[in-house]
Amino acid sequence: MCQFCHQHGEGKKWYHNASNYAEDLLNDVERRRYIKEFIYDVATDKAREMEETFQQALKVPRWLREIGYRFYEQKYRRDHFGQVIPKEDLHQVYRNASTIVRLPCVCRKSSTGAREARYCIGLTMDPEKLLEIKEAFLETFQFGPHVDPFERLTAEQAMGLTDEFEKEGLIHTIWTFKTPFIGAVCNCDRADCLAMKAYQYRFHLFFRGEYVAEVDASRCIGCRRCAQACQFGAIGYSAHRKTAFVDPLRCYGCGICRAQCEQDAIFLTDRAAHPRAASLW
Ligand code: SF4
Ligand code: SF4
Repeated sequence: MCQFCHQHGEGKKWYHNASNYAEDLLNDVERRRYIKEFIYDVATDKAREMEETFQQALKVPRWLREIGYRFYEQKYRRDHFGQVIPKEDLHQVYRNASTIVRLPCVCRKSSTGAREARYCIGLTMDPEKLLEIKEAFLETFQFGPHVDPFERLTAEQAMGLTDEFEKEGLIHTIWTFKTPFIGAVCNCDRADCLAMKAYQYRFHLFFRGEYVAEVDASRCIGCRRCAQACQFGAIGYSAHRKTAFVDPLRCYGCGICRAQCEQDAIFLTDRAAHPRAASLW
């Protein structure tokens, strides 16, 4: 189990612990201010600023850069940190959620200027009680009065969306706002999501998932669709065996490869029991 499971899971995976979604946590004034400022900060010019920061960081010695990265990662673990989550676990999160809203993605707004890229899901965020956060969305996205940034979803609708996003090859991630409060789910790719861009610079804003993928070689026909879908470069192909294989040291356990496999040749196993990946988060 990841660090958050140990700290905030109470014996479960941390994202299955109901107390991490408590409205009391969201009523904390500082946390609400943080969420509001986060929207202004990320949805405006964060993508460009982040790229510049990482480019500057590449100019310092690697050992020094690594120290800086690890320091700031600890800060993000306190403020806003995520974990890859496969669809089965996410379905369970939605079944237990008190409120689910679909939101425009702040990362895609920052990366591409898109205002209606609704790839994000808010949890516990009742639109009637979060007027200042709604206001932050309205201002930064410059929505007219006819557009509601909070689109309410049922659990079934959210689960259906998850499956659609998965077919598009998007990775599901779940996020804290002032840990341990869990406030959002994102559906990410390397092109537009800031956490995935940071990952490309080896700066980690999310844990690997609680699982690792494996290929059942007896079913695999070597089509390599899975390898094309993997955003972590964790799938290779054996020319000799004519089958795909997963590198457990790179796998994040998102399950996106599995969604692309028409032979049902990929399955997820428990990371904690994996001989090579158990300690990799
Ligand atoms: S998608 Fe499935 S059948 Fe194709 S290479 Fe990957 S595991 Fe094998
Ligand atoms: S191998 Fe599959 S489960 Fe692992 S990171 Fe790649 S797509 Fe995700």
